[in-house]
Amino acid sequence: MPNIAVIGAGVNGVASAIKILEHYLAEGQPTSVTIISEDFTPNTTGDGSAGLWGPYLLGGTPQSKVYKWSQSMHRFLEKIWLSEDAGEAGVCLLPCIRLNTSTVNTVEDFWRNIVYGAQDLTADQLAAYNVGRSVKFTSGLSFVTYTSEPVKLLPYMMKRFTRNGGKIVRQKVEDLDVLIADSGYDVIINCSGLGSRKLLNDEQMYSVRGQVSRVKANWIFSAVLDESDDGNYIIPNTESVVLGGTHQERDYNTQVCERDRQLIVSGCRRFIPGLEHTESLFDWVGLRPGRAELRLEAERRGRKLLIHNYGHGGSGVTLCWGCADDVLDLLLAANITSKL
Ligand SMILES: Cc1cc2nc3c(=O)[nH]c(=O)nc-3n(C[C@H](O)[C@H](O)[C@H](O)COP(=O)(O)OP(=O)(O)OC[C@H]3O[C@@H](n4cnc5c(N)ncnc54)[C@H](O)[C@@H]3O)c2cc1C
Repeated sequence: MPNIAVIGAGVNGVASAIKILEHYLAEGQPTSVTIISEDFTPNTTGDGSAGLWGPYLLGGTPQSKVYKWSQSMHRFLEKIWLSEDAGEAGVCLLPCIRLNTSTVNTVEDFWRNIVYGAQDLTADQLAAYNVGRSVKFTSGLSFVTYTSEPVKLLPYMMKRFTRNGGKIVRQKVEDLDVLIADSGYDVIINCSGLGSRKLLNDEQMYSVRGQVSRVKANWIFSAVLDESDDGNYIIPNTESVVLGGTHQERDYNTQVCERDRQLIVSGCRRFIPGLEHTESLFDWVGLRPGRAELRLEAERRGRKLLIHNYGHGGSGVTLCWGCADDVLDLLLAANITSKL
């Protein structure tokens, strides 16, 4: 059986590691899977995010692939939501409204048959959101989907991984070639997110800075998202509500910016004035792993197999289970046991 290492303990690394481990277990072929990572939950990029299902900021990644990967995640979340694990994994079913101010495009909805009950907003419904706004919303979509806040989903997934014999090593990989050449791993799955910029000298990788504010508002039970460039969003999780947010390309500042905070809070209050009376919990910044196109492919390095799975932009949670399907397919297609 191949000896496999997964670099990265974000949603993509952990999903890929579980998918591989559980596949071999189901086949009755125990294998060794190790997650090697500099940081673990609660210190990965997803940990501050609301984990709302929805494709976002994916560069030129083909729509057909995004559809397939995100559908797989939706099914995975549905399965968890229907199980006894839903509370522990932080998986919630949530009504959502997406709004758009564009006069050219309507709300992007190539995924509308994946979510539940998608319906375009009527003119009257749109008018209700447009009261007092100078820039009017021109289209809107209402639907129901899942949130899976990584700060709960990741510990659940890590537990599932280690319970099945998965191993964990806390280590920063400084040189990928050294790991490939000198370690006993036959297969290395690279899920290092923005870390791939340095690890692989991948100039196509860039940060998409995201700042959010968390507030205590346990009276909000639906999400609203303005898709315009400087649009705000409000997404409830189990114990707090996420107010967003920024998407600043090639900005590597991980400090909370007061000006961004003001824009987030005031913008969200325009949607729900009652937010003025909520308790502020904390502000958070994460750097999304932006890329011209998500990279999911295999390459040979001598006798070893290297599979890349990084560049998930603003959708790493939405795509992780579907991308892990493809990681497993690439691994099995390489027929690694007989060739190495
Ligand atoms: C404000 C904000 C809101 C978001 N909201 C959503 C949302 O609602 N829904 C959604 O789907 N997505 C959302 N995202 C995007 C999502 O969080 C990311 O796409 C996702 O977390 C990327 O996961 P990843 O596993 O690919 O990378 P990461 O989570 O960045 O994990 C990379 C891992 O690799 C490790 N690593 C890196 N380099 C090395 C190295 N050299 N050696 C060892 N380990 C290394 C790191 O320590 C880390 O464990 C949001 C992001 C932000 C910032």
